[in-house]
Amino acid sequence: MRKLASYVADAWVEGEGPTTTLFNPATEEPVAETSTTGLDFAGAVGHARKVGGPALRELGFRGRGELLRQMAKAIHGGREELIALAIENGGNTRSDAKFDIDGASATLAAYADWAEGLPEGNLLLDGDGVQVGRTARLHGQHVMTPRRGVAVHVNAFNFPAWGLAEKAAVAILAGMPVISKPATATALVAHGLVQLFVDQKILPAGALSLVCGGAGDLLSHLDGQDVLAFTGSSATAQKLRAGEGVIARSVRINVEADSLNAAVLGPDVSPGSDSERLFVRDVVRDMTQKAGQKCTAIRRVFVPADRLDEIGEALAAELEPIVVGNPGSDGVRVGPLATAAQLRDVTAGIARLAEETDALFGGTGSVQPKDVPEGNGYFVGPVLRLSRDPAAARALHDHEVFGPVSTVAPYGGSAEEAGALVRRGGGSLVCSLYSDDRDFLASMVGELAAASGRLYLGSAKVADQSPGPGTVLPMLMHGGPGRAGGGEELGGLPGLRLYLQRTALQGDKSFIKFITE
Ligand code: NAP
Repeated sequence: MRKLASYVADAWVEGEGPTTTLFNPATEEPVAETSTTGLDFAGAVGHARKVGGPALRELGFRGRGELLRQMAKAIHGGREELIALAIENGGNTRSDAKFDIDGASATLAAYADWAEGLPEGNLLLDGDGVQVGRTARLHGQHVMTPRRGVAVHVNAFNFPAWGLAEKAAVAILAGMPVISKPATATALVAHGLVQLFVDQKILPAGALSLVCGGAGDLLSHLDGQDVLAFTGSSATAQKLRAGEGVIARSVRINVEADSLNAAVLGPDVSPGSDSERLFVRDVVRDMTQKAGQKCTAIRRVFVPADRLDEIGEALAAELEPIVVGNPGSDGVRVGPLATAAQLRDVTAGIARLAEETDALFGGTGSVQPKDVPEGNGYFVGPVLRLSRDPAAARALHDHEVFGPVSTVAPYGGSAEEAGALVRRGGGSLVCSLYSDDRDFLASMVGELAAASGRLYLGSAKVADQSPGPGTVLPMLMHGGPGRAGGGEELGGLPGLRLYLQRTALQGDKSFIKFITE
């Protein structure tokens, strides 16, 4: 069987002892095994800091932007092989795989473009200078420079390509070497990506390492110049935040965690309108793309009470013809969940929702997938539930079911009521609002901006060009308060701040101008 090595200190290294097996989630056949036991994580961190950091800083922002351009091209060149790995190990349909892999290359390319407008060196100005003394001579200016540590990236199983690339693009452009740890269960694609970069000798020594398997004692070696960027469940986030280094040595940490994203249909949206079609398309796409395993997927759908039955029927009608099955087969739109553990969690989550909701479509998700022998694979069909009393519901607002599952619920039609229901989610990555009424949208922004990382305003004017709320764009911030982890990633060049140290220079204006111009 294929053995996945980790890439640390510029060498492919296999761990010792017992291995973890990676599976094909459609057939349950093993596809690879990996271990990180015995890997020298202290050495890996030291090598990245001592070799990778200086090599990246030597290149300056523009030179590092060129690296990102080459990484994007390498992914594009290896696209077909990566898609095959995503189908095999991720249960992705071809379309799901492209979403992940093309998202990876597009994010790298976007940061490569923005790098062209940055200075040659390693110093960025932050805002304008300011007079701080009695006369203009005593001056102050904030600047930002690369932190002199390593960026450790711990990623979730659902986006092995995009997750690695979006974090690496920003850290490398900022000037920090990266140690990336994909989720073990779906590490094949991340391994494929790094193999492309290594084989094509794109990055300087020490700039990028890959850990395929458990993190071992990796995080215990981090200190105050390092950055830990985590994407995954709130439960794991809590453990990492409580890590000794994070607390005792002030390791900078960014967390992207769970989110019970909502969609709200405005009271003005009429049946058959462009805005309603956009709303139905977005909800169905988010339930089915990547089998609903997207952190940005719509989990709660709030509609005006007088339209509840009609909207439920419209969504069910769109879900009806969708084929669940082997992700490699023609016509299949929903593949399996990524792992057996995911199947257990999603099945249990549906049962929890079923205690307080009615079935609208798909029952509890039991399905006979196309082109899969009976009893094989981690499949759940799309499930739409109906909550008639969302104010009294608990699991609806508290429990993220990370699969093709969503719940429709009524609200009275006011922005205040919809806002209060959405906020029950405790902070989310994205909330989508569908309306052509500017006053309603303005009220909803007032209700929800503080509880949301992104507010997606779906209206007839953008219906023909909107990628939907589930697509994370490099120019817009990704993250959210509260349950969503409280983190911020991407959002164009401001995303670099996570990996830069901000410093106030205070002194003679001519000296400061000499240093910064
Ligand atoms: P997870 O179980 O929390 O795992 C996430 C990552 O953490 C994996 O790489 C895992 O490695 C690693 N990990 C687990 N325990 C660790 C420890 N003690 N020390 C160091 N690393 C550790 O989450 P998941 O099941 O992969 O992902 C699903 C969750 O992620 C969902 O709740 C979803 O909402 C969330 N998510 C959020 C976003 C976002 O941007 N906000 C994006 C995607 C997913 P192993 O695989 O080796 O255990």
